[in-house]
Amino acid sequence: MKTMNADVIVAAAGLSGLAASLSAVQQGLKVITFEKSKVTGGAANMGISPLAVGSKQQRMAGYNFTPEEFFLKHMHYVHWKADARLVMEYYRKTASTIEWLEDIGVEFIFDRCTKYTPVRMKQYAYTEQTRHAVAPAPGEQIGPRVASRMTKKMTEEIVNLGGEIIFEHAVNHVIMKDGKVAGVQVTGPDGEEFEAYAPVVILACGGFGDNPKMIKDKIGFDWGKDLYSFRIPGNVGDGLRMAWEVGGGKEPSIMELMYQIPDNLNHFALEGAFRQPILWVNKLGMRFLPEDVIGNTGTTGNAIAYQPFKTCFAIMDADTLKYYKKRGVDFPGVQGENVFNDFDEAAAAAKEEGYGYYFEADSIEELAEKTGIDLEGLQETIEEYNHCCDDHRDYLFDKYPDFLRPVRKPPFYCLQQFPGAYGTLGGVRVNYKMEVLDDNYKKIPGLYSVGTDAMNFCGDTYPFIFPGTTMAFCLNSGRIAGERAAEYLAQ
Ligand SMILES: Cc1cc2nc3c(=O)[nH]c(=O)nc-3n(C[C@H](O)[C@H](O)[C@H](O)COP(=O)(O)OP(=O)(O)OC[C@H]3O[C@@H](n4cnc5c(N)ncnc54)[C@H](O)[C@@H]3O)c2cc1C
Repeated sequence: MKTMNADVIVAAAGLSGLAASLSAVQQGLKVITFEKSKVTGGAANMGISPLAVGSKQQRMAGYNFTPEEFFLKHMHYVHWKADARLVMEYYRKTASTIEWLEDIGVEFIFDRCTKYTPVRMKQYAYTEQTRHAVAPAPGEQIGPRVASRMTKKMTEEIVNLGGEIIFEHAVNHVIMKDGKVAGVQVTGPDGEEFEAYAPVVILACGGFGDNPKMIKDKIGFDWGKDLYSFRIPGNVGDGLRMAWEVGGGKEPSIMELMYQIPDNLNHFALEGAFRQPILWVNKLGMRFLPEDVIGNTGTTGNAIAYQPFKTCFAIMDADTLKYYKKRGVDFPGVQGENVFNDFDEAAAAAKEEGYGYYFEADSIEELAEKTGIDLEGLQETIEEYNHCCDDHRDYLFDKYPDFLRPVRKPPFYCLQQFPGAYGTLGGVRVNYKMEVLDDNYKKIPGLYSVGTDAMNFCGDTYPFIFPGTTMAFCLNSGRIAGERAAEYLAQ
């Protein structure tokens, strides 16, 4: 049986694993990183921007944010149900982490909104200006997947500094000896199993977004019925399982909730077209939010999950569609500003495919029949809503009046929305050094957990008001673990 030796073994080369590996190799440690898939970067390859507070980019744009101020905002947001020391440590590190990445050649572009953009009009409504988008390739726009440029640079730097990244190798178990971490058991691509030894193991396996059974058991959503979240292949909860197997304490997990339509990447323009402040109703036909809050996809995900049958419907009439085609979107969102240019094509493709979540109808009765929305409730709501539109005043929820457009002229267009998520958050109990703690809150010597596996600081809702939190936590927790591992090894 082959064996390997290192100072530090990192389980997985997603964002937090890369940060941990980079941080550890920069301390001069021998690092082996095992990655289950054929690529590094994990979920982060699909993303855009990490958060930072107090960065030079923010200062140049006139924001004098301090980590201490954000610490308090964060703690109040989660009702102080988080490890305050970890939260403070995290915010104090975020700005220097941007510079840490710039030092290896990653470039960032600060959020394009100005300080004076009204909150509802921000790309992420009702949020703080914390996003630092990874700069796209010359001539390209900031958009999904730009963050893969960051993970690529991190990967290159790890290898340049002598770190070893071994692909298609899954870490299965942590090996303990005399109460301390001693290594891991690994399976290679041909099924060959072997042991690799190191006094430090950093688990960074990306939560369990690709494990519907675990989602159902731990969080209660039924994937494919009331949840259509991203599933990063291989993120099946290995990091949590391995930590728990050797005595790691358990913390509650949550979905990193937002809202989504099924198979959204194949219906991207359609999704963007209906992420507008048009009429939104639940299955009873009732409005349930002022639709100008939907730019905050996190809390809107919560609102949808709170509705009967955990679903809702966004509806517009022929006049509103005509308006959007002529004038463009109210909210650009991640789908961009041009979604209505592609609307006819996207709608035709959805119909041709038999996509079951997009509806067109010539009457409200037909719309109710096709969607399953309660007809009486829908009729009542539309009458009330149209009255608000005529009066230019939303008597129910006080939506911004310019977004009040009646639902009168057929055909009617409708898209069904569901809770979605980027993945799961939390589960492994850690302290502010990212050391795994057992049921008695004692550390398991040599064992660290980082990234979404250990992201227990959100309370019950991902703090979408601080955009970029997940990537930032993954980067910073990984960086902290690498530094703390070096301290542990020097003892
Ligand atoms: C579409 C999308 C867009 C997003 N955009 C943003 C954004 O703009 N800003 C933001 O802050 N967040 C964003 N996120 C969230 C954020 O990118 C992720 O939550 C974050 O990258 C997770 O990092 P991680 O290290 O915990 O897991 P991942 O980066 O997913 O990495 C986990 C890795 O573990 C590997 N693995 C799993 N099990 C094993 C095992 N047993 N052995 C070896 N390897 C294993 C997997 O193959 C994977 O490579 C986005 C997420 C998605 C899906």
